Amino acid sequence: MKHNSLAAMVAAFAVFAFAQNVKAQNFEEFVKQQNAEFEEFAKERQQGIEALKAEYEQTVEDYKRAMNRMYDSEISSIDLMKSDDNIEVKTKAKAPKSTVSSSELSKNAKEAKEAIDNASSDEILKKLTGANIDEANAQQVKEATNKLSIVISDVINQTEPAKAEPMPEQKAEPEQEQKPEPKKEVEAKSGNSNIPSGKPCTYSRISSPFGERIHPVYGRKSFHKGVDLAAPNGTPIYATADGIVAFAGVCNGYGNFIKLNHQNGYKTGYAHMSRMVVSSGAKVRKGDLIGYVGSTGTSTGNHLHYEVYYNDQLTDPAKTL
Ligand SMILES: [Zn+2]
Repeated sequence: MKHNSLAAMVAAFAVFAFAQNVKAQNFEEFVKQQNAEFEEFAKERQQGIEALKAEYEQTVEDYKRAMNRMYDSEISSIDLMKSDDNIEVKTKAKAPKSTVSSSELSKNAKEAKEAIDNASSDEILKKLTGANIDEANAQQVKEATNKLSIVISDVINQTEPAKAEPMPEQKAEPEQEQKPEPKKEVEAKSGNSNIPSGKPCTYSRISSPFGERIHPVYGRKSFHKGVDLAAPNGTPIYATADGIVAFAGVCNGYGNFIKLNHQNGYKTGYAHMSRMVVSSGAKVRKGDLIGYVGSTGTSTGNHLHYEVYYNDQLTDPAKTL
């Protein structure tokens, strides 16, 4: 009996040991498998981060290009509006309120452009997320990419939100210009034909106001130097004061652009025109047709970008409409 029970015990132990061995083998197998899976996972993770970083680097390039174009457009349009500043001052005009120095804006734009040009993608990521690019996790890299993408699309759409003015179906016929009704708009509020006043065109709404807008995350905010008046393609545009056509041509992001010099230190600018009907040097009277609304230059929809300068100051055109 004792013998039997001992044998049984030995047998039981053998079975137990065998089971343990099998377990141990399974466990080793299991660990091996887990390690392999983990390695694979880590590899995928690493590849994932590398891919995210590559996407981020590409986005930084796109961002720099977009910002460069934006600042170039801003600087060249200010320079254009500032050139030939020898305007005859006949009467003392009261300086408009809420003016901004265009020299200051131009200087700021040049500095911001340079800062962005010189910034490394690492610096930009640090600015956006607080992390260095080598230590950044996937979430941070994604976050930085998203932020930059938003800025890029803001910069691209800054002149006019696409949804502002639904494109008419007959857009295929670009020469569909409305019959001009000269002087109607601009004469509505006119008092002095030497000072810009009245609406340069019929419009549905101001789709973008004068002043600071867009927050490009890195660098300064962009300044919208005029008002955007949403109007269909081909809407007639009139001079808002007597003056001389100082420029009529293509200007960087402004597309077809007309600059008028008026007396008393005033200048007006009309951008994104589909067509211009006056040329440089021509004399215009308040209410004269100068061109038609379009979407040339950096613009995603039909509108008139309208600017009013007083000496070296940018003023809010909304106050003169
Ligand atoms: Zn504009």
